[in-house]
Amino acid sequence: MIDIRQISKWYGDFQVLTDCSTQIARGEVVVVCGPSGSGKSTLIKCVNALEPFQKGDVVVDGTSIADPKTNLPKLRARVGMVFQHFELFPHLTVTDNLTLAQIKVLGRSKAEAREKGLLYLDRVGLSMHKEKFPGQLSGGQQQRVAIARALAMDPIAMLFDEPTSALDPEMVGEVLDVMVKLAEEGMTMMVVTHEMGFARKVSHRVVFMDAGRVVEDCPTPQFFSTSEQRSERAAHFLAKIL
Ligand code: ATP
Ligand code: MG
Repeated sequence: MIDIRQISKWYGDFQVLTDCSTQIARGEVVVVCGPSGSGKSTLIKCVNALEPFQKGDVVVDGTSIADPKTNLPKLRARVGMVFQHFELFPHLTVTDNLTLAQIKVLGRSKAEAREKGLLYLDRVGLSMHKEKFPGQLSGGQQQRVAIARALAMDPIAMLFDEPTSALDPEMVGEVLDVMVKLAEEGMTMMVVTHEMGFARKVSHRVVFMDAGRVVEDCPTPQFFSTSEQRSERAAHFLAKIL
């Protein structure tokens, strides 16, 4: 479904990604973790072409991002992305936040977009807040709206970049619950997170990054085992955050 093939990326002289590869199969949940500045956000943004890269390729459902003939906005519309800071439009109601891209990007009618948006709002348990503005919701609720908004676009995969790290601790659970449900329903997911409980319980594989490289890429049970094969960096990282 998502095939990251030896991508390298530079910001000027600074090489931020070096030969990064990993594959995410349909229905698979992959957690990406690693120290601050290791390139996790940059990597995930390369997957939906929010960041260009200079070498390698990312193939999403058969479509190559490096191919100049690829329609990137069209591809981007098919991959849902949820960031650390819930980027809802503050001047739009929850309903309008949910319908805007469906209407503008997918060309759905207002009625159709509304129906779909409210369906997903219900799935994240927030139907009663449909007429509110983002500022009237808690951080956890805003993040759930952001997830519903991404889902309303019928994405083929969902990318999450630290979706809970800006939240107050008591709101982390409600957002993770939504993500767990999504995973159980078989959504293909790439999740940058330091929530190792989520990684252990929900993910199929863990990719560990350090200094712009994929240092480990292994099944979740193996990542959390204290095997001899574990890289020193990953062991150090885990020791710090577990
Ligand atoms: P964190 O855990 O703090 O979110 P990260 O693993 O997501 O870190 P990235 O945000 O991908 O790391 O950044 C990787 C490296 O690239 C860092 O050293 C960062 O300073 C650098 N970097 C990120 N964006 C830019 C940019 N626009 N221009 C130059 N350097 C950048
Ligand atoms: Mg980051």
